[in-house]
Amino acid sequence: MAKILKIITNPNPILRKVSKNVDEKTIKSKEFKNFCACLVATMKKKDGIGFAAPQAGKNIRVFTIDTKDGAIVFINPKIIKKSWAKEWSEEGCISVPQVFGKVKRSKKIVCEYIDEHGKKEKIEANGLMATVIQHENDHLDGILFIDKAKEIQKIEE
Ligand code: ZN
Repeated sequence: MAKILKIITNPNPILRKVSKNVDEKTIKSKEFKNFCACLVATMKKKDGIGFAAPQAGKNIRVFTIDTKDGAIVFINPKIIKKSWAKEWSEEGCISVPQVFGKVKRSKKIVCEYIDEHGKKEKIEANGLMATVIQHENDHLDGILFIDKAKEIQKIEE
């Protein structure tokens, strides 16, 4: 059963580690498949459009994003192409609550990954989806959006 995972917030060293690839055997395991389902459930519960494993305390290379066609799970993702054209857009993060800022990222990317069924996939994304994939992929390298952001704003509750 998918459950809501505890969210790690900044500052926490887990968010700053470079995460490890998931091996083939693990990808096939029930426990891992369940973890992927929990990532998706937690993202949805928190109204996020993306959520990465380190944010749930696991330094493994997995994240999920929400799209109009449902959630996609990215295992061992690799951004293999990035457009030279970049744009600034407003970002926030479940692990950095109440903080927003503008980040400059490639408009268009191509990402290779393994899906939760163990199948190799490739996706071309632009606009918001490209932004989210780059943001989540940064989490796997211990990078937070606040490292790159300008005009950082803290929203008081
Ligand atoms: Zn984030």
